Amino acid sequence: MEIKKVMVIGAGQMGGGIAQVCAQAGFTVKLNDIKDESLDKGFTVITKNLSRNVEKGRMTVDEKNAVLSRISRSLDLQDAEDVDIVIEAAVENMDIKKSIFAKIDGIAQPNTILATNTSSMPITEIAAATNRPGKVIGMHFMNPVPVMKLVEIIRGLATEDGVYAAVDGMTKKLAKVPVEVNDFPGFVANRILMPMINEAIFTLYEGVATKEAIDDVMKLGMNHPMGPLQLADFIGLDTCLYIMETLHEGFGDSKYRPCPLLRKYVNAGWLGNKSGRGFYEYN
Ligand code: NAD
Repeated sequence: MEIKKVMVIGAGQMGGGIAQVCAQAGFTVKLNDIKDESLDKGFTVITKNLSRNVEKGRMTVDEKNAVLSRISRSLDLQDAEDVDIVIEAAVENMDIKKSIFAKIDGIAQPNTILATNTSSMPITEIAAATNRPGKVIGMHFMNPVPVMKLVEIIRGLATEDGVYAAVDGMTKKLAKVPVEVNDFPGFVANRILMPMINEAIFTLYEGVATKEAIDDVMKLGMNHPMGPLQLADFIGLDTCLYIMETLHEGFGDSKYRPCPLLRKYVNAGWLGNKSGRGFYEYN
């Protein structure tokens, strides 16, 4: 199963990054979103990232232009009719993901692989929204995509071996390292990372320390490159809340209950870097 043409759904921080690394690896990419302005924003970020590569001597101007020419804009899911793989990176919401997968299933060719970049949601449940569960797989990139090496590859209950092999091979072509993981809420990355972030938010909520102190302890004491509250802002507080809810519901264990302060910030529209305000303020 050779992959040449890719459609990425969602032009946010993850989808834009995935489109960029796919185009850099020579794949033809359609970048899809429901909003024109999200596509504008996605292309602006990709262009900025590539220009920085040119400035640093990692790429020529011709190479940058060639990468950009391999990415086209899409506002219509019908554009999935001739691609080899769809990588969905829309919001972390099960109803939205299921609806996208059901629609794409009716448009894409029968052999097209349907991958999701979900951070935490069951691949098997997303696959059940389609008539091709064997072709559905999790492809969990890390943020920022152009920088981070890991991709968790998650098999749903029905994922075919050939589909796993094709996605594993594609990930290596992207110069990333695939790691195989089974389909349980949060997989490995967010099963471990997100409860730590949630606990940091509880630590702030209970007044144990200031946000700066909490981040300093984890940066200076544990050698983490970012403190957990700064990292939560970077990931997006809405995404953090969705992941905690998935863990809480999926395992039925109160240890995964989202901190009320996290919920309050999300309800206020304080989503972190992407909205200009989260635990910290951003210009
Ligand atoms: P984001 O909010 O930056 O972007 C989401 C994009 O999806 C927006 O541009 C929005 O317009 C678009 N969208 C919403 N509904 C759509 C639809 N029906 N069709 C097409 N586009 C639609 O979110 P993000 O941080 O890029 O996260 C996207 C996915 O990646 C989520 O599932 C998230 O859990 C996962 N993820 C996020 C991170 C992270 O650190 N932020 C890391 C790994 C995986």
